[in-house]
Amino acid sequence: MTIYNLGSINIDHVYRVPHLPAPGETLSALNYTQGLGGKGANQSVAAARAGAHCLHIGAVGPASDWVLIALERYGVDLSYVAQLEVATGHAIINVDPGAENAIVIYPGANRALSPAMAAAALAGAAAGDTLLLQNETTAQAEAAALAASKGLRVIYSAAPFDISAVRAVLPHVSLLVMNEIEAEQLRSELGRLPDCDCVITRGARGAEWISANLEPLFVPAFAVTPVDTTGAGDTFIGTLAAGLDRGLDRAAAMRRASAASAIQVTRPGAAPAIPLATEVDEFLQSH
Ligand code: ATP
Repeated sequence: MTIYNLGSINIDHVYRVPHLPAPGETLSALNYTQGLGGKGANQSVAAARAGAHCLHIGAVGPASDWVLIALERYGVDLSYVAQLEVATGHAIINVDPGAENAIVIYPGANRALSPAMAAAALAGAAAGDTLLLQNETTAQAEAAALAASKGLRVIYSAAPFDISAVRAVLPHVSLLVMNEIEAEQLRSELGRLPDCDCVITRGARGAEWISANLEPLFVPAFAVTPVDTTGAGDTFIGTLAAGLDRGLDRAAAMRRASAASAIQVTRPGAAPAIPLATEVDEFLQSH
């Protein structure tokens, strides 16, 4: 089976600065690193590292070959990643010595995806496949409607939270995944959680699966010492999608997702910190 992931691909530019710049100030950074980012890319990496065939539906701009090479090395299928004339989505991340940050994101090519591009990628999709999507691209509602009409499982990570995007996608969703802040935002907008199955992640306090038809399922987080929790949610979602895709029941898929994200938070970075399926197997055997 295939996981089609309609998702963002970003370049993260991280500058260590002596302090966050004030209006009008010009500042020399102390250090600069560049890396692969974007919720979509992270989730594709997590699904691929968990062993799924993950076909990413997305776009980058000119001079971004290293991004594609990186994604390919993680095992992501890039057959439907377009190269457009608009800049690759990127984030300018300033980090001060106290780890406080100030971030500017330019969505670029991520917001140039058309429903036709998504439809072309989904042309070969069939019941049993999965569509995964977040809120950092365009064409989500159209892709979700098409996928649902073909009988795909539609897993929606409603982040960054945007109520109008959520309202448009929700009618087509099989499983909605949110962290607890997003779940609260949705509850306050709708007055309740939606009728579809929902997974709510609660950081070191674990994750729960809430369903109108099934018993509530709580999966604790594993006790680890985190060094960087960036991308924990994306690791959880990509691993969960991969587990369900290969036919695991929801308890087993949630446990693997919890293990993968526990390993991921013990390592620095987002995508490079995501473990392989074999590492998750070993972790589960020893826990
Ligand atoms: P982020 O925005 O940092 O990517 P998120 O807010 O989307 O994350 P969280 O709820 O923080 O998502 O984390 C997702 C899952 O990752 C949790 O349900 C848990 O299984 C695991 N996790 C996160 N933080 C920890 C931690 N400190 N220790 C163990 N597991 C963790």
